[in-house]
Amino acid sequence: MRTLIQGGTVVTAEGSYPADVLVDGETIASVGRDLGSALGGGSVPDKTIDASGKYVIPGAIDVHTHMELPFGGTFAKDTFETGTRAAAWGGTTTIIDFAVQSRGKSLREGLDAWHAKAEGNCAIDYGFHMIMSDVNDATLKEMDQLIEEGVTDFKLFTAYPGVFLSDDGAIFRAMLQTAENGGLILMHAENGVAIDIIANRNAESGLTDPYYHGVSRYPVFEGECVNRVIRFAEAAEVPVYIVHVSSHKAMEQIREARDRGLPAYGETCPQYLYLAYEDYADGSFEGAKYICSPPIRERANQEHLWTALAMDDLQAVSTDHCPFCMNEGYKGLPRQKQLGLESFAKIPNGVPGVENRLHLLYKGGVIDRGWSMNRFVQLVSTAPAKLMGLFPRKGTIAVGSDADFVVWDPDRPYTISAKTHYMRVDYNPYEGMTIPGSAAYVFSRGQMVFEGDAFVGKPGDGQYLKRSQYNLP
Ligand SMILES: [Zn+2]
Ligand SMILES: [Zn+2]
Repeated sequence: MRTLIQGGTVVTAEGSYPADVLVDGETIASVGRDLGSALGGGSVPDKTIDASGKYVIPGAIDVHTHMELPFGGTFAKDTFETGTRAAAWGGTTTIIDFAVQSRGKSLREGLDAWHAKAEGNCAIDYGFHMIMSDVNDATLKEMDQLIEEGVTDFKLFTAYPGVFLSDDGAIFRAMLQTAENGGLILMHAENGVAIDIIANRNAESGLTDPYYHGVSRYPVFEGECVNRVIRFAEAAEVPVYIVHVSSHKAMEQIREARDRGLPAYGETCPQYLYLAYEDYADGSFEGAKYICSPPIRERANQEHLWTALAMDDLQAVSTDHCPFCMNEGYKGLPRQKQLGLESFAKIPNGVPGVENRLHLLYKGGVIDRGWSMNRFVQLVSTAPAKLMGLFPRKGTIAVGSDADFVVWDPDRPYTISAKTHYMRVDYNPYEGMTIPGSAAYVFSRGQMVFEGDAFVGKPGDGQYLKRSQYNLP
């Protein structure tokens, strides 16, 4: 099967130029001018797509999702089937989800459970990170084995005492292990012990509205942990990747480390760029929609993060997609966010976003702040591919790369709404926002997945991606 994408502007992280793209089977066979006539009369492609006036960009990569994550007595509502379909519609053709090691169990058990959830259900390709809840001799050895299987990084937490929190020794030991085996440590860096003291004090004083979730998690608690884990990585002589950087206090620690020449990296997420907790200071339960950890911050914080993305102080944008409904339950369990009607402490943490990441970055970055399309592609596709060991198979438009790409139409406006979105959740944090452009066609390994708003892919077409070692951007 050969498909010719004709007349578009190819955009990679390096540059933009008018070119056709010829897809043969699952990969890109040729990129160049006027490929249609070069093929000659006897050699017509099976399908031709007119991309004139449109961008042809590499399929985007969301390296932070939580499909069906068990949390706080319920489950994130998107399955691998519904979540990957929603991702694809928005222009994302690869996700990396987090398999979870439950405390006391092996990494293997956690990884096998996540493979079982995903296998045969994904519309696009997928990989896994491994969340480590226990760092001990056995799990340190297991890390080496997982890397062989393409799970090349490990998320540790300084938050959630008693559940996921790793102490300093555990974090440092895991980093020393990656110095040997070539893995990468991803850090959820907020001081969960200190946060719990403030959160409990607020709750005991009757300050239980959703608003107090955010204000209990001081930005300085994030900055402190980001600094600490970067120092450990410096001592272990390994790179470190900070997930979901939410506050400028945390971002500044990454910037400072990079200015000293350290391989410190950070991602942020659309919720930190667009949402602000001032908006639900009225005490309404609406604020439950926006509860995630780290929390959304004050509005003045947002511009610091936009600037950091422009200046490469932060290197990637992912979503931390983890949807819980406001008014619906799941699998016989009660209404999801309403588990926390009595107190913010019981609200499942997470916001939806896997479908809207490109929309929000395109509008906020390219349209509102004048970024190049190349910077946009770097942040949503190329840098994530490099950091997570997928480049150049993914993350670029090049001969031999997987034919994962999006024909992005700058003149195809879209208004975000829960009424029309593909995510399986009953609200959208960006409800009513109009985006000037959106994906006209989405391809995954040479196969069309979306044609406009029509899903033409299939659950199960997405394959597990065995990743290699990071290739630092
Ligand atoms: Zn996290
Ligand atoms: Zn997460």
